[in-house]
Amino acid sequence: MRFLPVFLDLRTGPVVLIGAGDLARAKLRLLAAAGARVRWYATDGNHDVSALDAADAARIELVRGDPLAADLRGVIAILCAGAGDIGTAMSARAKAVGLPVNVMDDLAHSTFIFPAIVDRGDVVVAIGTGGASPVVARRVRERIEAVLPARIGDLASFIGRWRKTIHGRIPEFPLRRRFWERVVDGPIGALVLAGRGNEAEAALKEIPDPTAFAGALASGQAEGRVTLVGAGPGDPDLLTIKALRALQDADIVFYDELVSPEILDRARRDASRVPVGRRVGKPGIGQDAINKLLIEAAKSGQRAVRLKGGDPFVFGRGGEEIEALREAGVAYSVVPGITAGLGAAAQFEVPLTFRHEALRITFLTAHKAKDAESVDWSTLTDEKMTVVVYMGMTAAPSVRAGLLAAGRSPQTPVGVFARVTRPEAQAVVGTLDELPALIEKIDGGPAILIIGDVVAHSAPWRYQNLNHVISELLEAAE
Ligand code: SAH
Repeated sequence: MRFLPVFLDLRTGPVVLIGAGDLARAKLRLLAAAGARVRWYATDGNHDVSALDAADAARIELVRGDPLAADLRGVIAILCAGAGDIGTAMSARAKAVGLPVNVMDDLAHSTFIFPAIVDRGDVVVAIGTGGASPVVARRVRERIEAVLPARIGDLASFIGRWRKTIHGRIPEFPLRRRFWERVVDGPIGALVLAGRGNEAEAALKEIPDPTAFAGALASGQAEGRVTLVGAGPGDPDLLTIKALRALQDADIVFYDELVSPEILDRARRDASRVPVGRRVGKPGIGQDAINKLLIEAAKSGQRAVRLKGGDPFVFGRGGEEIEALREAGVAYSVVPGITAGLGAAAQFEVPLTFRHEALRITFLTAHKAKDAESVDWSTLTDEKMTVVVYMGMTAAPSVRAGLLAAGRSPQTPVGVFARVTRPEAQAVVGTLDELPALIEKIDGGPAILIIGDVVAHSAPWRYQNLNHVISELLEAAE
């Protein structure tokens, strides 16, 4: 991000506009509609503003003379649109006195740029592409326009009118925030969005005890809780809507090393972020210490999110965490996530079950050779069973030995899928016999193994076979 979106208070001073023609007039319309006072230097001498409403036109001061000699005292920003070479000179002048300046379509001479805007009264959304592509910004804008309720601005101003009163009645910030969340998400918010502002006003006045409405405990403190959230295998678009909501409501997020930064970015900006996983080469703080942190956070009234790669209940120790929370009397809930095995299957087109070919699935873990030794491989003899192995990179030789000893064919197709659903995802396919060598071809984990006939349906397998056929054809042609 090079350009930080900030909102300029147009009541603090005039904006100087320099330029002529349609470009200048478009900016004039935008500024006038936003309520700005504009000092306009029309470089072609045509100061016609009859296209604007009278009230807007009244706020425009038409100036003649040289803009380069303009008095800039009190001015809050300078805009050049259709100003030709004057734009460049004006930019230098603005920079010299430290005023924000925009020269239309000229990033090099601008210190700020205009976003695409979604305008719903008090709710304004600014969309920028760093000046790279206004077309992309417009497409994003269309999508936001489509999902934002038409009266969202009314909802913001409704809250704005009540803010002070409620501040007086609920002095604690965390409780106040929950009060407003319940208003926005509940029937009162729905009334405002439905255009029934008077009824909403009445309903808000009727709340007998705002602190209790906000969900305070008998002690008057906000109720804390822990949400175990499955972050999925990496692609932030694979977060569930519930996961996103928990992240947006969080006061604090405890996350694992497997959670991608893009996903962490979806958490509420002001939420504290605490890494609790193992780092490369460094041990983690340990499960007991994590449990303790979760309990402390909830008991201090915070809404904690425990963010885990994949699904919290698939080799994620989520079970132990909720046991500890239960014992400590802390409220909790669990939001499932897409587990790595399912992410790999979807991305690389491995149908985990297939009519007549694969009738069951086993998810197992074999972290070290020792774990692999404790797996009862004899239960995995069924050829119609797809085996998904978590944390199986180091134990790959033992996985191979175990499955072969159980009577699985050395020709059984195997896929090693690394960093699935992330931009640098990788797949290597081959046979059970080749398994340890397949791992060598992977440029680092995390990786998941899928073993079974269904791997022969996968995209990398089909691709490999195609390559094989092509090279045979080429050889035959020679
Ligand atoms: N709870 C997680 C699993 C945690 S165990 C889940 O449901 O996915 C960690 C193991 O998960 C890794 O060793 C690897 O086998 C697998 N894994 C996690 N993320 C992965 C990814 N993006 N690509 C491939 N494997 C992944």
